[in-house]
Amino acid sequence: MPKKQQLSYQKMGLLEFHSRFPGERECVRYLEQIRFPKGFICPRCGSKASGLIVSRGLRQCKTCRAQTSLTAGTMFHRTRTPLLHWFWAILLVAKDKRGHSALQLSKELNISYDRAWLILHKIRSAMAHRDSFYRLDGIVELDEAYFGAPDRKRRGRSTRRAKAFVAIGLTENDRPRFCKIKIIKRLDSRSVKAFTTPRIAKGSQVRTDGLFVYRALTKYGYLHEAVVGSGKDNKNLLHWTHLIISNAKAFILGTFHGLDKKHLQQYLDEFCYRFNRRYREAEMFDRLLLACATAPPITYDELTR
Ligand SMILES: [Zn+2]
Repeated sequence: MPKKQQLSYQKMGLLEFHSRFPGERECVRYLEQIRFPKGFICPRCGSKASGLIVSRGLRQCKTCRAQTSLTAGTMFHRTRTPLLHWFWAILLVAKDKRGHSALQLSKELNISYDRAWLILHKIRSAMAHRDSFYRLDGIVELDEAYFGAPDRKRRGRSTRRAKAFVAIGLTENDRPRFCKIKIIKRLDSRSVKAFTTPRIAKGSQVRTDGLFVYRALTKYGYLHEAVVGSGKDNKNLLHWTHLIISNAKAFILGTFHGLDKKHLQQYLDEFCYRFNRRYREAEMFDRLLLACATAPPITYDELTR
């Protein structure tokens, strides 16, 4: 992440976008500004004299001739897609609250479905990376959720539905602030620990429905509050968590028309990223671009593993 954030967040309509990024050069320069906020200095010899090779996203030092990639360490590294396409994709994703499908994006940018799919999944990966820096604290609701259609052939809690933990950080007035959702393999105390440790600050007050798996929360450094009510009929019982789970399901079904279990986590990451910035819609483009410019590159293999 850049230490000094000098880029200001602006409202971005299509016209503003076009005048700010009319071509590949402006996109390369934007990346350079993030990586070298004080201007380019050759990492090898320290010289400030250099030339820009736009087509390859490089700076070449005029003193020692060393070439420095401006996309290295960003989501855009080693991609055959021009930066201008990436920037457009980020704009369209940022402007569409309901999320963007690969089919839509492939038509808008006149690129193949596979390429559009890959771009969107990389953007989701940058969203997840960005959100991983933040922890929930204070009062946190924690519950389990099931995604996917119930399997009619089986009884009870079907194994074909994806299980997930959902945590919502609340304000002192019990309003939701931020959320985190993670698919889990098993619902046990070990997965509770694996979910909470990196996502919820120690000392937080964690509110659950009192299911046995949550008993160990005290041992992991949290204040555990089991809200015991009259089951699902009690509307106050983890009210926000239930509301956000149903919003997440609507988001996934509305845009992606199904619950592909393999990529469900990425769709949930996008849902959380958007939810966590729901009051910052005007800044979405700049924030998302920064997220992609500061997230480590990820390969097709890593995405589809
Ligand atoms: Zn040099």
